[in-house]
Amino acid sequence: MSVGGPGGGAASVGRPHAPLVGVLAIQGGVDEHVRALERCGAVTRRVRTIAGLDGLDGLVLPGGESTTMTIVMDREGLTDPLRAFLRSGKPVLATCAGLILLDREHLDVVPMTCARNAFGRQTRSFEADLDVDGLDAAFPTVFIRAPQVVEHDPSVAVTARVEGAVVGIRRGPVEGWAFHPELSGDDRIHARFVERVRATLA
Ligand code: GLN
Repeated sequence: MSVGGPGGGAASVGRPHAPLVGVLAIQGGVDEHVRALERCGAVTRRVRTIAGLDGLDGLVLPGGESTTMTIVMDREGLTDPLRAFLRSGKPVLATCAGLILLDREHLDVVPMTCARNAFGRQTRSFEADLDVDGLDAAFPTVFIRAPQVVEHDPSVAVTARVEGAVVGIRRGPVEGWAFHPELSGDDRIHARFVERVRATLA
């Protein structure tokens, strides 16, 4: 769908091509991210193989089960290529299990440590309106067996907290959320992400 060619073609004048955003599709809540990204003007690709990373402008790591994702990624030989992509400087949005995958003990993309299922068994799923850095009104969050960021390097910016616990981070082009913005019926986090991806296109 790209116009291609040096300088682009007449068709692209004033209308840059839509950003191509991958969603890691090993396991978990893939479809909701795909729909939210497409509502925000991105072209999407479900990424299951190394080749699926080729040519992406940005990547989403969805929620699900980080243990399962880790096992399948290793089995498919995806761990190293995925880590390389996540460290490449392209925009990344990670949610819940995806946030866990970014930490020191998993793909080591963001210098932080996550605690899994950190809200305890009684309150493992809940909703809350949270102040999110950069959004002008509270964001309706959905937490499902969510992690917390329990330790991070000073280079990691905290972008959301719930009862003092860190549930949103940003470090350069990588943003991560312990909740599920794709389930909240509010596209502001995805829209801002797609704009970030768009801004990286020539
Ligand atoms: N509890 C899951 C894990 O540890 C994350 C839950 C989610 O992604 N909704 O991987």
